[in-house]
Amino acid sequence: MRKVPFIVSLLIILFGCRTDKSSPEKEKTEKVNEFAIIIHGGAGTILKKNMSDKKETEYKEKLEEAIKVGHTILKKGGTSQEAVMKTIQIMEESPLFNAGKGAVFTHEETNELDASFMDGKTLNAGAVAGVMNVKSPIELAITIMTDSDHVMLSGKGASIFAKEKGLEIVDPSYFYTERRFQSLQRIKEKEKTELDYDAKTAVFYDSDIKNAKFGTVGCVALDKNGNIAAGTSTGGMTNKRWGRIGDAPIIGSGTYANNKTCGVSSTGWGEYFIRGQIAYDISAQMEYQQKTLKEATSDVIQNKLTKLGGTGGVVALDKNGNMSFEFNTAGMYRASMNDKGELLVKIYKE
Ligand code: ASP
Repeated sequence: MRKVPFIVSLLIILFGCRTDKSSPEKEKTEKVNEFAIIIHGGAGTILKKNMSDKKETEYKEKLEEAIKVGHTILKKGGTSQEAVMKTIQIMEESPLFNAGKGAVFTHEETNELDASFMDGKTLNAGAVAGVMNVKSPIELAITIMTDSDHVMLSGKGASIFAKEKGLEIVDPSYFYTERRFQSLQRIKEKEKTELDYDAKTAVFYDSDIKNAKFGTVGCVALDKNGNIAAGTSTGGMTNKRWGRIGDAPIIGSGTYANNKTCGVSSTGWGEYFIRGQIAYDISAQMEYQQKTLKEATSDVIQNKLTKLGGTGGVVALDKNGNMSFEFNTAGMYRASMNDKGELLVKIYKE
């Protein structure tokens, strides 16, 4: 009988020591990165067999260039807000992504841009929808947060505000790329004949690869002061009409940040991200159910979003510098960089 207390103590010691580096308990309490940054350039049916080596290199190089800009800012002690803005601007200026230059076309053959930003310290936020002549929608979203009494501005009014604040205004033709224009033409051609036009959402999915493919950009950063910021910028979905607005400018759907929990940027079929309040739900699960970042992102994307019928993914980062990529599509353009300068750039599932 005297052996019982001994066995019990042994079990306590053994199980007590089981918390290794990847255990949920450590993930919740231990700071793994003093600062960190994570980005995406869209999720969707991105398959190796459809991608040339040259294209793959171009995407990877641009993701690396963008994330390094943000990482350098954070390393020098800059704010997560600045890191998110400057990183996203690199991707907005690249025709590779569906944001800024390279944005997809609406049914009316225009480019209508959406973006949002959230500050995890103050829970302040800014967003813009349907703007057509502001070079950097993410900068406009941040300026709406810092320089107006509002959270969201749209269309013409947003352009007037941007002009008043001295932001760079461009001719709408700046956003034109032949690739996206042709993509719209193909979709319109198919629209006439085929059935996979979704009348409910009025979005016709990318005919290039017979499936949805997205190219929104997003970034989440944690700075040395423990402040998390998140931002997202997009052209929306090809062939959108009637002033359709997706999740990217909706706080809680496309973007969310809270220093108590995490920051999130989403990409995918926006209607589902709005209905699921995807970005906020990840933070809520961490706050109210004490889930780790990994548990929350995986539940929200693999269970909740998938059950709703939505496709896409998120990049997320928590207050301890843990990072998570989570998506239910074949691929997601993505990269992360930790405080040791370790860089990860990926496109496909593995
Ligand atoms: N989420 C965006 C939208 O629905 C599209 C994307 O992520 O590419 O507007």
